[in-house]
Amino acid sequence: MLSSLLQQTGGGEFHVINPATEAIEASVGLASVAEADAAIDRAASAWPAWRAVSPADRGRLLRRFADLVDAHLEELAQLEVRNSGHTISNARWEAGNVRDVLNYYSAAPERLIGKQIPVAGGIDVTFAEPLGVVGIIVPWNFPMPIAGWGFGPALAAGNTVVLKPAELTPLTAIRLGELALEAGFDEGVFTVIPGKGSVVGQRFVEHPAVRKVCFTGSTSVGQQIMRGAADQVKRITLELGGKSANIVFADSDIEKAAATAPYGVFDNAGQDCCARSRILVEAGVYDKFLSLLEPAVQGVKVRNPAEDDAEMGPLISAKQREVVSSYVEGDGVDVAFRGDVPGGSGFWYPPTVVLPTSTQDRVWREEVFGPVVSVLPFTDEADAIAKANDSEYGLSGSIWTRDLGRALRVSRGVEAGNLSVNSHSSVRYSTPFGGFKQSGIGRELGPDALAAFTETKNVFYSQD
Ligand code: NAP
Ligand code: MG
Repeated sequence: MLSSLLQQTGGGEFHVINPATEAIEASVGLASVAEADAAIDRAASAWPAWRAVSPADRGRLLRRFADLVDAHLEELAQLEVRNSGHTISNARWEAGNVRDVLNYYSAAPERLIGKQIPVAGGIDVTFAEPLGVVGIIVPWNFPMPIAGWGFGPALAAGNTVVLKPAELTPLTAIRLGELALEAGFDEGVFTVIPGKGSVVGQRFVEHPAVRKVCFTGSTSVGQQIMRGAADQVKRITLELGGKSANIVFADSDIEKAAATAPYGVFDNAGQDCCARSRILVEAGVYDKFLSLLEPAVQGVKVRNPAEDDAEMGPLISAKQREVVSSYVEGDGVDVAFRGDVPGGSGFWYPPTVVLPTSTQDRVWREEVFGPVVSVLPFTDEADAIAKANDSEYGLSGSIWTRDLGRALRVSRGVEAGNLSVNSHSSVRYSTPFGGFKQSGIGRELGPDALAAFTETKNVFYSQD
């Protein structure tokens, strides 16, 4: 099957590496500028017919696509384990999330309801019009869910979609593109274009037929995309980095807070924009918390991600391991304790707990994007909020307390788009997701996601 991936090769070829074994899994052809433009032109040509499909039929097609994703869930999950090194349990959840997002937004075409606004002399009505071609740029950390959060609502709203997977992790996106065709979408409605960010991603920004770019990835590339989009006043949604705080108050269930903290940051080997990579602990329970955290970190099952009980796999690449290591070994940071990793090949890095000297340390301020968590104490509620907000990012975070009033005050005080109290949950397809400050612009998922893929048109019909 994998040799059939060599369709577009004008932009060269990319060897997909299994991060757990370092073996080559597949060769994928990369699109050139001309090939990207041709795919965008086909998406633009497919748009008039797609937006004319009746709302009920659009919903039915999305449900058929969801059913096919469900029927191929295990295949998609296994592919993600080999391409991205995700644990098999995570990868199954991720494929299931694509199915769920498609089912959730399959109800949207029939519910894209406008307003009838009272005015004198006639009727005033609003319409939610699709934009045209939407370009989705996906990073390597969650290839399936982040793709689905874009294409699900974008297609439901009546747009056609071109999607660029990350160079490192194109395999599941390519398979999803094939399943969409099998579900009955016409050619050009949903097109996956493997290629380089500087080639295909850049064309999404520059090509005038692409009316909106959804980008998830680093803040620096997000800034470039925002600058580039300004030339055409192009719509953008940006989901960027994070440096989220996990705030543990002395009145909380400290045992539970410590037992769950590793999973709030080391999931997906810490390559998660929502990773709670800064733990803030109330000073009076700081020592107790650390003594409970140590066995919890050592208990994280870091192993071959294909094994059913694996809780953490390798990093995505040798380069990413170098980046992560530069924050710890490179900076001579004080390591409190760390977990184990398997020997042999693979881009492994152990779950690592570090104790920065202050909030100015690089490891405390920058997104490491690996299994490294920093712990610092705080004095009181105001200090906790101030330290949590002392960041250019504002994506996610957790608050541990049994005091309801404090939970209310702190959750309103922390500048972040997605918070959870007494848990580390941040992503549900039915609730909005996105960042404050430099963590991004706009929201994905939830009941309002279609607003990001439509323009409001207001029409006044004169009665005379
Ligand atoms: P990145 O460079 O921002 O890449 C994300 C996506 O953007 C990829 O598909 C990439 O293509 C594409 N891209 C790169 N340059 C582009 C350009 N000039 N125009 C349009 N698209 C472009 O992220 P990365 O290099 O993979 O990761 C670097 C760091 O970003 C990580 O260490 C982490 O801190 C952060 N990150 C955050 C998230 C998140 O969820 N918020 C996700 C991933 C990474 P290529 O694959 O060809 O580069
Ligand atoms: Mg990059």
